[in-house]
Amino acid sequence: MLATINDLPLLPYLREFSDKIAAVAGTAIRLERREPDKTNVNPNALAYRIGASPDFTPWIIYRNSQEIPNHMILHELLHLRRVVVQGIPQLVTLKNGADYPEDGHCLENAIEHTVIVPVQLKCGIESKKYWNDLVVKLLKKSRGNIPDDPQDRRRMAVIASLDARYCVTDLRVKKAVAKWIAKLGETKFAHEFIQRYRRAHGNKAEMARMVLRAIGEKRLVGLRKYGKKSIPLDY
Ligand SMILES: [Zn+2]
Repeated sequence: MLATINDLPLLPYLREFSDKIAAVAGTAIRLERREPDKTNVNPNALAYRIGASPDFTPWIIYRNSQEIPNHMILHELLHLRRVVVQGIPQLVTLKNGADYPEDGHCLENAIEHTVIVPVQLKCGIESKKYWNDLVVKLLKKSRGNIPDDPQDRRRMAVIASLDARYCVTDLRVKKAVAKWIAKLGETKFAHEFIQRYRRAHGNKAEMARMVLRAIGEKRLVGLRKYGKKSIPLDY
């Protein structure tokens, strides 16, 4: 069983990456094995977590005991670098004075992917294939399932347009996403959203505001910096 990332035969640049994260966190990145997630279009996808106070240990969750592809490790390390090393706040849902990071995780991921996936894509052909294939799988999964609730449709259109703009490199896949957004009846909305988002790109609070306003989010949401308490985000 793998206990920390140091148990993996990492490529030198990934080792350097993970050492930097460990130096700031004051502890090695922990690894946790879980069963494949059958609800996910990629049941063996990796995930990252930040452990609870007071240690805030960075974690990577992996899904099988087989070899873990380098591009997937790189992806999780890019997430952790943003949070731990660069101090970029994470989007969390606030309830009764506590954070619920899992709740906001989908939007948090969609936003963070617009920054880290373009970096990942520069590092190898397998990342491009992975993201193009993943978006095709997501489209297949949602096909025919057009929600009645306009807020749900807009949430789908927002996430699909972010994926298409920042994570997809294959033009055919970009076109398939545009077709799906048209089917949702949200082409104009998605176009205007992505223009506003592009102007906000690079500023986490502003990126979060653009997404939360676009989907008509009503919940209390906050931003939380690594090792700190969350601060409610006014949007
Ligand atoms: Zn991710």
